[in-house]
Amino acid sequence: MNRIDERDTIFSRMTLEDGSDRYMRYYKKHPEKKEIDDKLRSAPPGQFSYSVPEAPMVESTFAFITRLRDFVRGFDGQYEAPEGIKEQLSALPPSALTDYLKKTLRSYGAVVSGSGLTDEACAYSVRGRGEHYDQPVEELLPFTLVYALEMSTEELRTAPGIREAAEVAGTYLRVAVPGLAIAAYLRSLGYRAVCHMDGESELVLPPIAARLGIGQIGRHGLIVNKRYGSRIRLGAITTDAELRLDNPVDFKLPKACEACRKCATLCPVGAIPQGSIIDDYENQVRSIDHEACFSAWKKFGTDCGICVAACPYSRVGSTLKSSSGSGKAASKPGDPDFLKAFMFGKAGPAPRDS
Ligand code: SF4
Ligand code: SF4
Repeated sequence: MNRIDERDTIFSRMTLEDGSDRYMRYYKKHPEKKEIDDKLRSAPPGQFSYSVPEAPMVESTFAFITRLRDFVRGFDGQYEAPEGIKEQLSALPPSALTDYLKKTLRSYGAVVSGSGLTDEACAYSVRGRGEHYDQPVEELLPFTLVYALEMSTEELRTAPGIREAAEVAGTYLRVAVPGLAIAAYLRSLGYRAVCHMDGESELVLPPIAARLGIGQIGRHGLIVNKRYGSRIRLGAITTDAELRLDNPVDFKLPKACEACRKCATLCPVGAIPQGSIIDDYENQVRSIDHEACFSAWKKFGTDCGICVAACPYSRVGSTLKSSSGSGKAASKPGDPDFLKAFMFGKAGPAPRDS
């Protein structure tokens, strides 16, 4: 697997300021992306479901999360455990520390976790956010503990909209805290440890989560856990403390996705491939159209979440159904045909493939 350059991700590209050094360098190397990116950046954010009190909460929560990113490698005044603790721990089997960390994660709200060797293929090749922009990812710590917190079914049922966006922001905050605390704990014992959280990660979290048993990658490009579906957000800690090696899980999701296609049918911009996504060896070979997806977010003025809510594994109880071809007029937010008309007018989106 070729490592992903974080500078190529849509979230990195959307931070490039017209005329800046980063902007000039990036589009000199990738002129094919300039037109669509300029268009996406300059589009005014929509007000599809703007409402108070939720809207300022989304922004303020993400602003707070941005400050938390400063703590992923440590902070002033960090606690140091008494001498000799690390030696005592090293005498125990790796499963003892792993079990304790996973138990702690559960008490901090994680519903699922996995541990094992850090797979370099699941790390960015070069960082593309904030102060780390342009930095190659070279020195990964050898073990990874990855975990997920669940999002509320009730709030996700409202996708797309401000309540779903507030739930996403709140979950990113809740998922950051255990990762920061456990990384700080490991450092206090004398190990090296780095927390990987929203917007501040050396790891591409969905593939490492799949490697370490959290779930499998769905047609919509997100991790799908057998019990919670895509209704989860991921965090991770890398460390030089030896951890137990968990195995990937296989509940035949790629085959289920070949038959299901619900997320692709309901995506208001046709960003999710409709056709076969696996090759003869069941390797996933298609990915989503990130520019199209982001265009929906921009037009809604929030993130979208329809594919998360629609996935049967997420068990959201979403009322979203494709009514295309039913002959009934689409009339309300949440109705897929209403959303497609909102995005594109009467013509609707061009399907990505058949
Ligand atoms: S978040 Fe919305 S626009 Fe993006 S892929 Fe999912 S359904 Fe499509
Ligand atoms: S909605 Fe269906 S096709 Fe999409 S990820 Fe979930 S199971 Fe796969």
